[in-house]
Parts: sequence; structure tokens; C-alpha cells
Amino acid sequence: MINCSDAVKQLWEYLDGAMAESDRRAIEEHLDVCKRCCGEAEFAEELRGFLADHASDELPADARIQLTTFLDEL
Ligand SMILES: [Zn+2]
Repeated sequence: MINCSDAVKQLWEYLDGAMAESDRRAIEEHLDVCKRCCGEAEFAEELRGFLADHASDELPADARIQLTTFLDEL
């Protein structure tokens, strides 16, 4: 099972749909467990940190928008 920070690192690829089916399943599995155990707060925190750590030149603009939207919906 992957942890929050790994899930966050792969989240934009997941949202982009560029991921292999097995990797997608790992993220979905994590999100499912995350909501029940560590809670969305921890995941949201990791995601916020990820966005803060990655300047817009590292992260494609559309990926940033997708992640921000995802964060808003958590
Ligand atoms: Zn988590």
C-alpha cells in the first residue's frame, strides 16, 4: 500500500489519465483508505505542500489546475 505522500506525487498523472491501470488502482485504493483512516486532512496537507514545493515551471499549468481543483473538492 502506498502512503499519502506517494499518492500525492502521482496524483497529477492519475488525474491526467496518463497512468497504467495498475498504478491508477493503487491511487484509487489509497484515496479510498485515506478517507477512512488518516482522513482527507492529511492528504490535503500533503497536496498543498506538493503544490507549494513545485514551481509552475516544474509542473504543467493544466496539472496544477487539476490538482488545485481536486484539493478544493476534498
Ligand atoms: Zn493518505
